Amino acid sequence: MIINGKSIADSIKASLAERISAFPAKYGRSPRLAVLLVGDDPASAKYVHNKEIACERVGIENLTLRLPADTAEQQVLERIAALNSDPSVDGILVQLPLPKHISESRIIASIAPEKDVDGISPANVARLWTERSAVIPGTDPDPKDSFPIPCTPAGCMRLLKEAGINPDGKNAVVLGRSNIVGLPVAKLLLNAGATVTVCHSRTKDLAEITRRADILVAAIGKPRFVTADMVKEGAVVIDVGINVDPASGVLCGDVDFDAVAARAAAVTPVPGGVGPMTICMLMENTAACFLRNVNK
Ligand code: NDP
Repeated sequence: MIINGKSIADSIKASLAERISAFPAKYGRSPRLAVLLVGDDPASAKYVHNKEIACERVGIENLTLRLPADTAEQQVLERIAALNSDPSVDGILVQLPLPKHISESRIIASIAPEKDVDGISPANVARLWTERSAVIPGTDPDPKDSFPIPCTPAGCMRLLKEAGINPDGKNAVVLGRSNIVGLPVAKLLLNAGATVTVCHSRTKDLAEITRRADILVAAIGKPRFVTADMVKEGAVVIDVGINVDPASGVLCGDVDFDAVAARAAAVTPVPGGVGPMTICMLMENTAACFLRNVNK
């Protein structure tokens, strides 16, 4: 089975759009997401544009603030403080990376946790690691006791759910230990009842570990690194990687897709797998922040 993230994301967005269309009558307004873009990095500009398109599609009001690359850190902090205290703003996202003279950790820490739609502020990270459960965005119609969780890991979990794969009791192996993907996806898999092994660049006998995985999540950023001999027959393989194949210039994941697809029970393609789910989970996180905001 090829897990088609694009079509799953499209159908989630369509049902989210329907839910959000009822919000103005019920709550007097639509959800509002503020996106802060500092500088003119073309990749960041494209990601922000894609977020604008997704917001429009689902009915979330988008407020993109574009600041010049030489904006002082203090000015960015002041902008965030103003958004934090604006009751009409439900979600705040700072597009990363930031210019070198700005401390990402100070900026992230300044976002009000209840508006942190990326789920990366220290308070939300702490909740993810201290609570035994976290609601996968969009799976609870009344998310009042939940909190935002990082979008890409959330997208991986939602893909598993939509594909009918339950991690409970399974062996899961996560390749990569970054704060934005590897670690949070490992915690979400633990929450879901999997026994989780996290591998990284210092891991010995990697293939031996990955071959034990019922669910293998690859998030290392190395083109087609996961080959068929590293995968157990019948495993589920989630490919988070977004790479450019140095030989062909073509976009590819961390998984050698064709060979692994012949061996695995299910695999996500790149493009069209985890990528579309990330932005979709951002929309779900924003809708959940809105509901908690208007219901408080
Ligand atoms: P990072 O570079 O932050 O982390 C990579 C991780 O992979 C590190 O933990 C590193 O280990 C590990 N690693 C690197 N080489 C090896 C190796 N040979 N064997 C085992 N482990 C290794 O990357 P991110 O987590 O930010 O991103 C991972 C990939 O996911 C990238 O391709 C990125 O583009 C993609 N991505 C996709 C998203 C989406 O929406 N689909 C969103 C975010 C990222 P160590 O810690 O020891 O250095």
